[in-house]
Amino acid sequence: MLGFKLIANRGRRNVKKKFDSILGTIGNTPVVRISKLAPAHVNLYVKLEAFNPGGSVKDRLALGVIEDAEASGALKPGQTIVEATSGNTGIGLAMVCAQKGYPLVIVMAESFSVERRRLMRFLGAKVILTPAYLKGSGMLAKAEELAKAHGWFLTRQFENEANARVHERTTAVEILRDFAGERLDYWVTGFGTGGTLNGVANVLKEKRPETKIVCCEPDNSQLLGSQTPQPIAPAAGLPPSHPAFRPHAMQGWTPDFISHLVNEAVERGHIDLLMPVGGEDAIRCARQLALQEGIFTGITAGATFAGALKIAEQAEPGSTILCMLPDTGERYLSTPLFEHIDSEMNRDELDIAESTPNYRFDTPAPAQPESKAGSQRHPGIEDLSTEGSVVLEKFLGDGKNPVVLFALEWCEFCWAIKKMFTALDIAYVSVDLDSVKYQQDDFGAKIRKALLDKIGSGNIPQLFIAGELLGGATEVLQANDSGKLQSLLDQLKVNYNRDKKVKGEEFLPNWVQK
Ligand code: PMP
Repeated sequence: MLGFKLIANRGRRNVKKKFDSILGTIGNTPVVRISKLAPAHVNLYVKLEAFNPGGSVKDRLALGVIEDAEASGALKPGQTIVEATSGNTGIGLAMVCAQKGYPLVIVMAESFSVERRRLMRFLGAKVILTPAYLKGSGMLAKAEELAKAHGWFLTRQFENEANARVHERTTAVEILRDFAGERLDYWVTGFGTGGTLNGVANVLKEKRPETKIVCCEPDNSQLLGSQTPQPIAPAAGLPPSHPAFRPHAMQGWTPDFISHLVNEAVERGHIDLLMPVGGEDAIRCARQLALQEGIFTGITAGATFAGALKIAEQAEPGSTILCMLPDTGERYLSTPLFEHIDSEMNRDELDIAESTPNYRFDTPAPAQPESKAGSQRHPGIEDLSTEGSVVLEKFLGDGKNPVVLFALEWCEFCWAIKKMFTALDIAYVSVDLDSVKYQQDDFGAKIRKALLDKIGSGNIPQLFIAGELLGGATEVLQANDSGKLQSLLDQLKVNYNRDKKVKGEEFLPNWVQK
């Protein structure tokens, strides 16, 4: 039985693996059985939306709303798209916009995790932050204002029916297919825009009426559980904050208002059960999924799973439960989900490191041999110094470019000097000795040998000002802190930003700063 299922699953994943663009890989996410965390009397499955290319369920919405607007003509070729989002929608939209060639502006409250902003910017979007105290409705208002002022296309994820339609066409169809001929007693979800809830519930209610729809929400922010309707929007059209809203741990769930799509699902009677979930339970479940099932997901996934476990406890034997896991845990490195995870070795790890004698931090580093001119042998460069020294002296004698750095292209200590010079607007020449340019005829090695002969050290980086050696990364960063660097530049009348004060240490790699 199990053998047959595995083969069937493999077959399905083999259906199509070659795509015209990344957009073809959206959806068709796997459903995985929970083996250790589920009570033995039920079949508990999770649907892993982290398998979408942007890492979340919102890739579906991004593609759905953009293709819907293209088809209706509401979105013109090359028109800027704008949306208010807690992050995942922005990442999905940024991916779709990058592939289709639309400029994208994302409006996001400052309180959402910083890795999301950086991901969106990496994919080419502009990210406009709004103050946290203005909450979800504030970021929405800003997106509306920008769309109106600039004639941009607002995707309106909270109201756009295309958001629900894409889940009807994809998520729901995948669920029907994966549970065809099997029981499906409960489908468990949370809600943000309500797109997933609305769309999947529409289809399940028609095709699998026996499946109970369970909708989770934060226990301290039960907008639906309060049974208080969403206050009517004023003429300006923006929803006011719901009175039951409180800040909660589940980024991406329950904004401070009940959206049109959520309200529609409520009014259609599609929610069979409301399930309040605590933030600590959510985080604990996300951690347990990672540790015991190898499933790496975010906080709302942990929250939905916590809800599904409560259902599982009460469900009759043999019940089948499917739980949505909306995104990947990588989006939460700077949040409470990772609070307990150290970057440094903890006691257990130190014990392992110290259980054998060598390669340890607590054994003193071997003394570096004193490097004397000619004493340090660099393989293959012994005979290259004549040519190298001519070039070296040419760099050092160049009156037009008095600041000369001898560097390696991918060396973090070289970057420290370069980043500091960029921050201070100091013009410099960098001779990257191992770059492709200086690998020609072994020129980098020739210059390096000449440097060794001249200064008696083979260490890189080395900085020269007007032909005089200032030193390596430590000396240069310290010269900034003591003002020596600035006075040398002043003497030479080299321009730099005199108003900017920086500390050298800031530019060192993080692992050294620690
Ligand atoms: N979890 C996360 C992490 C999300 O980003 C979102 C979307 N905001 C949801 C759940 C809820 O999905 P939906 O918008 O379809 O209700």
